[in-house]
Amino acid sequence: MSRRRQIYEGKAKVLFEGPEPGTLVQYFKDDASAFNNRKRGIITGKGVLNNRISEFLMLKLAEIGIPTHLVRRLNMREQLVRQVEIIPIVAVVRNVAAGSLTRRLGIPEGTLLPRSIVEYYYKSAELGDPLVSEEHITAFGWASTRELDEIVQIALRVNDFLCGLFLGIHIRLVDFRLEFGRLYSEDDVRIVIADEISPDNCRLWDTRTNEKMDKDRFREDLGRVEEGYQEVARRLGILPEGGPTDFKAPKAMQ
Ligand code: C5P
Repeated sequence: MSRRRQIYEGKAKVLFEGPEPGTLVQYFKDDASAFNNRKRGIITGKGVLNNRISEFLMLKLAEIGIPTHLVRRLNMREQLVRQVEIIPIVAVVRNVAAGSLTRRLGIPEGTLLPRSIVEYYYKSAELGDPLVSEEHITAFGWASTRELDEIVQIALRVNDFLCGLFLGIHIRLVDFRLEFGRLYSEDDVRIVIADEISPDNCRLWDTRTNEKMDKDRFREDLGRVEEGYQEVARRLGILPEGGPTDFKAPKAMQ
């Protein structure tokens, strides 16, 4: 087994040097964290499922011309991705009130928002990823006005597309978070979606029962956390062929 150089270890993923220049291998762990790392745990099989779910969703986005960092899935827990320069802000798109919006503004959970709302957060673990405005982003040079225009356009297109895709399998896309990177080529730089799109960073509720099928099951101690992720994968038609036995691979190969 060849040893690969680890580039970065995050809470839910590890990045290794890729096989070609300009690529990375993204490894999905079962580790879960919430509330700025104050709550931690393991969701058995989450890495396998998120790898599949994120691959599925990013390939669908690519089909409609939304660029992502994904090259291809390599195996149960790994994807080959393009190396990008991560933009230090994330976009959250909300359709229904939940999470920090309900706490910040006192809007009851489950309230349908008058329209989809895009928020930006500055990526800083020490500061707890604070909510920021466009003014902060452009004034501090985290992204240019043009980049921000592109980010909001991508975020809203992703929202439209994913809302429809999930509604088709009786899931409401309550909100989600997107990370972006700059992909440099010889004479061009493009904004692409990075990280992952999975029940770790989307709120997904069953349209018929309002049952939560995402990381809120872990955050809020609702129980049957694994089942939430499995049910999303099942409805998307992408449960791993080997079933639950394929889930047991807790360590990154090095
Ligand atoms: O907590 P909040 O309501 O701001 O989360 C909005 C969305 O962003 C949720 O879908 C949540 O899963 C996601 N999120 C995330 N990583 C964080 C915080 C929130 O993926 N650190």
